Amino acid sequence: MRPVLRPSAGFRIFSPRFSPAAIPYTERVSYRGRIAPSPTGYLHVGHARTFYTAFERCRARGGTLVLRDEDLDPERSREEYSRAVMQDLHWLGIRWDEGPDVGGPHAPYAQSERRELYLAAWERLYTAGLIYPCTCSRRDLMRAAQAPHEGEGGGDEGPMYPGTCRPPRTLRSRPGMEEERRYRSPAGANWRFQVPDGEATPFTDGYFGPQRLVAGQDFGDFLVWRRDDVPAYQLAVVVDDHEMEITEVVRGRDLLVSTARQILLYRALGYPEPAWYHCPLVLDNEGRRLAKRHDALAVRTLRQQGVTPAEVLGR
Ligand SMILES: [Zn+2]
Repeated sequence: MRPVLRPSAGFRIFSPRFSPAAIPYTERVSYRGRIAPSPTGYLHVGHARTFYTAFERCRARGGTLVLRDEDLDPERSREEYSRAVMQDLHWLGIRWDEGPDVGGPHAPYAQSERRELYLAAWERLYTAGLIYPCTCSRRDLMRAAQAPHEGEGGGDEGPMYPGTCRPPRTLRSRPGMEEERRYRSPAGANWRFQVPDGEATPFTDGYFGPQRLVAGQDFGDFLVWRRDDVPAYQLAVVVDDHEMEITEVVRGRDLLVSTARQILLYRALGYPEPAWYHCPLVLDNEGRRLAKRHDALAVRTLRQQGVTPAEVLGR
């Protein structure tokens, strides 16, 4: 693991000529970026461009790029897609320094092999009384979403969670008492992070500029663990980006609201926040967002039709 240099009293790592105090902390920590594909289909143009931006930003800073295989969903993830996505990224000219295929100091690089880390984070949040089990069915959530004034504010996670299963305040202020004995593992329940209502999560996005989302208004209590015993996206990504020492997160604009949720997890877990850079989304001819179901825009299909990497990347 690469050491992180911090000024510490009475201890000098560098010669006086390179006094650590003279260089801002952020510049002394070398840039670490990541690309994190989900192997639930072939790589499409939208993600390819975002990944290329991540690759370029990292290369321009002389940084280290990590490839992380986000294969947590057991129903939809397939190993053949993991391999295909890596092949397509290579064809586009994207190279990484750490990943499932090349290894590295933060191995394993597939999320399905990192469960213990997510479990430890779940335990910390649980012991701190910051998460609670949610027994709402999909139908309950749909019904709540149809009620007046409840259908907005969820952003990329759909309608905002109405808070049906939120524990009373008194319970939250006594974290880990009798409840701790009830739950030794998250299995069997959906677990939600109780957002601090009214708390702002300001951040400056490298592309979109200053953002200010407010918990309880722009987004509600979100999932950290799923009933089928799979860690939810928000928790896994925060744990991994922290453990892999990522200094800048580059991803699509569709995850802008999730960044606000993740900032709350960074605060709750006591992790330092990375920098954020969200890429504009690629739209199809009708102005709709590109999704994986647009098979015609799979990088693989375009390649077979003789389209060049530069054309795929729009350069
Ligand atoms: Zn619920």
